[in-house]
Amino acid sequence: MITGKDLEDMGYYDMFDNDLKTTTLKGYSAWVEDKMVTEGKTRLIENTLGLVGEAGEVAEKVKKLLRDDTKLDEVEVLKELGDVLFYITGLANYFGGDLNFIMELNVKKLDDRQHRGKIKGSGDNR
Ligand SMILES: [Mg+2]
Repeated sequence: MITGKDLEDMGYYDMFDNDLKTTTLKGYSAWVEDKMVTEGKTRLIENTLGLVGEAGEVAEKVKKLLRDDTKLDEVEVLKELGDVLFYITGLANYFGGDLNFIMELNVKKLDDRQHRGKIKGSGDNR
C-alpha cells in the first residue's frame, strides 16, 4: 500500500507549487471550482462523463493486472483516483453540496443499511 509518506519520499509532491498535503476538503473544492472550464448543462454532462471516464481509467489499469499478469503500478492507480475525485468534487460543487456533506450522506446511508442487516445485496434504496 502506498502512503502519503511514500509519495513524499518519491518526490511526487515536489512537482506542485502548493502544499497539497495540507489541503482541506473545502480548499480542494475551491481549487477544483477554479479549474472548471464549462458551465450549466454542458458542465453537468462534461463532469459526469469525466467521472465515468476516469473511473474507467482506474478499471483499465487494474484490468491489466489480470490480463498481463504484471505488477500493478499503485501510484498510477492513485493518480487516476485523484482524477475521479476531481470530477466527483466538480459535480458536488455543481449541485451546491460539498464533500463533507456527501461523505455524511454516504456514512448515514451505509450505517443505516448495516444497522438493518442490509449491507449486502443490491438496490439503491434497501
Ligand atoms: Mg486520468
